[in-house]
Amino acid sequence: MSSTPSDSSFRDHLGIVSAEGKRQWIYPKPPSGRFHSARIIVSWLLFAVLFGMPFVRVHGHPFMIFDITERKFILFGMIFGPHDFFLLALAMISMIVFIFLFTVVFGRLFCGWICPQTVFMEMVFRKIDYWIEGSPQEQRRLNESPMRGTKIAKKTIKHLIYFALSFLIANTLLAWIIGTDKLFVIITDPPSEHLTGFTAILIFSVVFHWIFAWFREQACILVCPYGRLQGVMLDRNSIVIAYDYRRGEPRGKLKRGEMRQLGDCIDCHQCVDVCPTGIDIRNGTQLECVNCTACIDACDDIMEAIKKPRGLIRYDSIEGIEKGIRKLLTPRSAGYSFVLVVLAGVLTYFLATRSDIDVTILRTPGMFFQEQPDNNISNLYDVKAVNKTFADKPLSFRLKNVEGSVRVLGDSLILKSQEATSAKLFVLLNRDRIASMNTPLEVEVYSGSQLTNTLRTSFLGPVKRKAE
Ligand code: SF4
Ligand code: SF4
Repeated sequence: MSSTPSDSSFRDHLGIVSAEGKRQWIYPKPPSGRFHSARIIVSWLLFAVLFGMPFVRVHGHPFMIFDITERKFILFGMIFGPHDFFLLALAMISMIVFIFLFTVVFGRLFCGWICPQTVFMEMVFRKIDYWIEGSPQEQRRLNESPMRGTKIAKKTIKHLIYFALSFLIANTLLAWIIGTDKLFVIITDPPSEHLTGFTAILIFSVVFHWIFAWFREQACILVCPYGRLQGVMLDRNSIVIAYDYRRGEPRGKLKRGEMRQLGDCIDCHQCVDVCPTGIDIRNGTQLECVNCTACIDACDDIMEAIKKPRGLIRYDSIEGIEKGIRKLLTPRSAGYSFVLVVLAGVLTYFLATRSDIDVTILRTPGMFFQEQPDNNISNLYDVKAVNKTFADKPLSFRLKNVEGSVRVLGDSLILKSQEATSAKLFVLLNRDRIASMNTPLEVEVYSGSQLTNTLRTSFLGPVKRKAE
């Protein structure tokens, strides 16, 4: 998708790769302006959620945990385990459709405002660069100077701070996975007692340090699959960060006292100088653009200075720029919305009707009925139960549709919190109440006095002899 450019040589190379094929380090100018200020506020809110959420407790239990190692998830205080696989799969599919829909309509808004890579890179690590190493020109001079004196001091301080932050991020990531309680145990015990956890923290810290210190924008341009998919998700109606070439071209320097016959772009290069991925947005939408809004702010400043309306670079679609038409609802976005609404409806239904305790009762395979004293007949059943709550639950059973009794084999059945339990139970019916070989049974499952499930199964009995 492109707008104007007559010279399309920008398509032949990446802004981060030099003519010799080497990495070209980007030294963007520090951004400032209304979008950057708004992004700072959003970033701090995100940091509050990221670093604060693992500590949130409801009735003493974690509010959010994504324990992939034990296949246990706590979402908004509700426990999900392997038995909820279909719910998680449904949630994942809904999330993917949502991402597609969101991208079709709003482009890479997520990358610029929410993605942890961009938020940490632009709001934390790059600001540390400016703070310790100075302006982009000073940073370039420092990098090109020999390694001694001030350079060693500045680089050491910077990387120590980088590593401390990476260590904090790695710990936070682990807290989201295993919870703060287990994390504190790993941190406070000697490393030899939790070698796996300790190694995981160290590896994550080193990887984060490497990404933010060296790999940087390459994560978005070369690695991130979401970035690579933009080409198929965006269309002419998607809102992107776009240069209004109809207003800006033909571009040309502003000359004092001259009657300007050109477009509004004065070719000042500010939008390129602030770009953290090293592109010129005036060439049109490009894969490298992470929607960081720095070029909008930079250009708005210039427009104000030359007394022109802001928004030469702005959030808009190609259709919006070319024809002034802004359509959020297109056949494509309507299709995605429909699928998303259906998926969300199904997911909501399953979540709303999800019980705290899942129980299945199946007649024990290979077992027929047994004759018991007092003219009774018994069947043996296998019970499997999963407790999805934070409390232990006692279970009892009653027959609903026929008169008879239920006996749990062994001790009474207590379901441990967040665990799956198996048990055997006998159902006893009086021979006189058995009308056929196969009697349908309805079994009510109680936790204390609360009815949790009503299950259907069948009861095998002897064939009734006809009255002679
Ligand atoms: S083109 Fe603009 S929005 Fe895109 S990455 Fe560069 S500065 Fe950010
Ligand atoms: S900042 Fe605006 S005026 Fe300056 S080169 Fe970019 S688009 Fe043109």
